[in-house]
Formats: sequence, C-alpha cells, structure tokens
Amino acid sequence: MSAPRDPTIEEFYKYCSEKKLMGVRCVRCKHIMVPPRSICNNCRSSRVEWTQLGSKGKLTTYTVVHMAPPQFKHMTPYAVGIVEMAEGVKLPSIIRVARLELLKIGMELEADFSTNPQESAWPQWPRYFFKETA
Ligand SMILES: [Zn+2]
Repeated sequence: MSAPRDPTIEEFYKYCSEKKLMGVRCVRCKHIMVPPRSICNNCRSSRVEWTQLGSKGKLTTYTVVHMAPPQFKHMTPYAVGIVEMAEGVKLPSIIRVARLELLKIGMELEADFSTNPQESAWPQWPRYFFKETA
C-alpha cells in the first residue's frame, strides 16, 4: 500500500501525469471537489479522500481563444470550456475537436492527457484536456 496523497493541486497534476483524472470526495456528504480541497466546501468536513473520475463529460459552455499565451500559440484558435462530468463536478478544460465548428453545447466529450512537455510546464493549465468521443 502506498501512503495516501494530500488533497493538493500538486498531487492533482501528478495524477494527471499518470493519466488519471482525480477529484477529492468528502467522506461525510460525498460532495466531489476539483480542484481538490482539504475541507469540504459543502459540509466543512475535513475527512476527504481521492476518487478517480470517469473520462466522460458533457460540454456546458465554451469560448474560442484567438489570442493565447506563448505556450499555446501553436494551438490557436482553440476552445476552452466547462465540462460537466457524470459525477456532477464541473471542470475547466481545453476542448480539442477536429474543427471548431463541430463544438456544440451538450456534446459528449472524453478526457485525455497532454504529453506535450511545453504545455505541461505551464502552471496555469492542467495537463488534461477533453476531446470528441470516438
Ligand atoms: Zn461534505
């Protein structure tokens, strides 16, 4: 058994590098939090544990970015959006589709993980992203 990991954003990114999309779940009220918090923002309990999220979600809103920070310039224009997971938690994410015209509110998306070290180095952006379901 490995030691339980702290509910921190650093550990969240470490999980991403292991291709795991993780949230923290409150032991008491089952509320799921991403990014992770050590105290439940629903019931204030400090008993939280990591839980692995599924890979499926739905696009609830998005915007197309034309002016990007240097790390993302090669991707412009690209979409960022909010994805609602089956577990009910909402995640901000880069949305990758073959053509931006294909973006639709409510479309099914699937989590994937960036292997581009340039993107991984940018601290403001998680290493996960969402793409069209195959
Ligand atoms: Zn709670």
